[in-house]
Amino acid sequence: MTDQPAKRVDLETIVSLSKRRGFVFQSSEIYGGTGSVWDYGPLGVELKRNVKDAWWRSNVWQRDDMVGLDAAILMHPQVWVASGHAEGFTDPLVECRNCNSRFRADHLEGDECSTCGAKGSFTEPRTFNLMFKTFMGPVEESANQVWLRPETAQGIFVNFENVVTATRRKLPFGIAQVGKAFRNEITPGNFVFRTREFEQMEIEYFVKPGTDEEHHEQWLNARLQWYKDLGMNPDRLRLRRHDPDELAHYAKDTWDIEYEFPWGWGELEGIANRADFDLKQHQEHSGRDLTYYDQEEDKHYLPYVIEPSGGVDRASLAFLMDAYTEETVTTASGAEETRVVIKFHPTLAPIKVAILPLSRNAKLTPKAKEVHELVRRRWATQYDDTQSIGRRYRRQDEIGTPLCVTVDFETVEQDNAVTIRDRDSMTQVRVPISELVATLAERLEA
Ligand code: ATP
Repeated sequence: MTDQPAKRVDLETIVSLSKRRGFVFQSSEIYGGTGSVWDYGPLGVELKRNVKDAWWRSNVWQRDDMVGLDAAILMHPQVWVASGHAEGFTDPLVECRNCNSRFRADHLEGDECSTCGAKGSFTEPRTFNLMFKTFMGPVEESANQVWLRPETAQGIFVNFENVVTATRRKLPFGIAQVGKAFRNEITPGNFVFRTREFEQMEIEYFVKPGTDEEHHEQWLNARLQWYKDLGMNPDRLRLRRHDPDELAHYAKDTWDIEYEFPWGWGELEGIANRADFDLKQHQEHSGRDLTYYDQEEDKHYLPYVIEPSGGVDRASLAFLMDAYTEETVTTASGAEETRVVIKFHPTLAPIKVAILPLSRNAKLTPKAKEVHELVRRRWATQYDDTQSIGRRYRRQDEIGTPLCVTVDFETVEQDNAVTIRDRDSMTQVRVPISELVATLAERLEA
């Protein structure tokens, strides 16, 4: 095997692999597809769950100062008036007079339409609200209008008082939430990078005013480290601070964690200091006292908020693209071939272990099934007894399965042991079946 310099995978390769192997499919494809909406297939759903679980473990289970929440998508319409979204969650929209294509004015480069090539054909920008509207109940009138949430954050703010009362938390503490959000993006694109329905992983971390900058810095470091700990190439990660004119209406200071996609640097997660903007707004609009009582100081005040807000879909795409590798290997017959390996961190790999009997055979099959039962109690597995063992290894490499377990005639006739084959080094070790689960755990969960 020769090591190749890390070559960037292009988006087309990832889109086609995603479809072929079952990571991501176009939504409603048999009807011609729905614009920029995607469905996660059997492997994609595992990857996405692993990303969310890793985030939850690191941000909720493994911290003393965090709790979870799962708020509803539909909320009282006043929430979006208070948060500023009803009025201000807009993008500037222009239309080409020649071909009617629509673009975000702030994403344009020059005055040429990228669809039809017409020059100077754009209309004046008009503001376009990105929130999806719908109606609550059977009557479609404005009094019943609600929105699909464009971020999960507001579900946390409106539950701040409930969580403080229920958990008796003292500052600083945070609330974490994972859930769907919807934005009627003018120009979605780049596969699952920008879509109209997506999932967010958001934290609102409440702190005493004056300590916000220090906590902001801690969260920047913690969140950047999370991506690195899950194997993302640090050279393709960076922190970027927003310019003052780029800051959202609620933000005192914002940094983005960006990943270098093939099309350039793109945001994976925004980490904003929202000061007391949201609680203050909700206090005003709801008429409820949302201040926090600081016992030590015998004072009521509105906490400041640090918000690390990431996207599940963007993170999953970045992990997939980052882990994609092509290597040249020499086969037993001396020929050179390309081995596609997705070098997922074991925590993220959709399938952790593949059970591969050497062949389909009356002797091997019962034993292999027995081994499979042992392993699948704990991990996502695949059982595969079709085609040659070499091909089956390649298939597992291509979906990023860290370990393959082969059951052969020696297993049955001699040693009751199996071979574990490592995805990255392709080395093999033999272990007794009695030690298999412990050995796999060491390799997968270290
Ligand atoms: P962008 O500038 O790319 O539109 P944003 O700054 O509006 O993103 P935020 O409001 O900070 O995004 O949302 C937090 C996170 O939610 C983003 O970092 C991203 O991971 C995810 N996200 C936002 N919009 C989308 C979308 N349309 N599709 C997929 N993920 C998204």
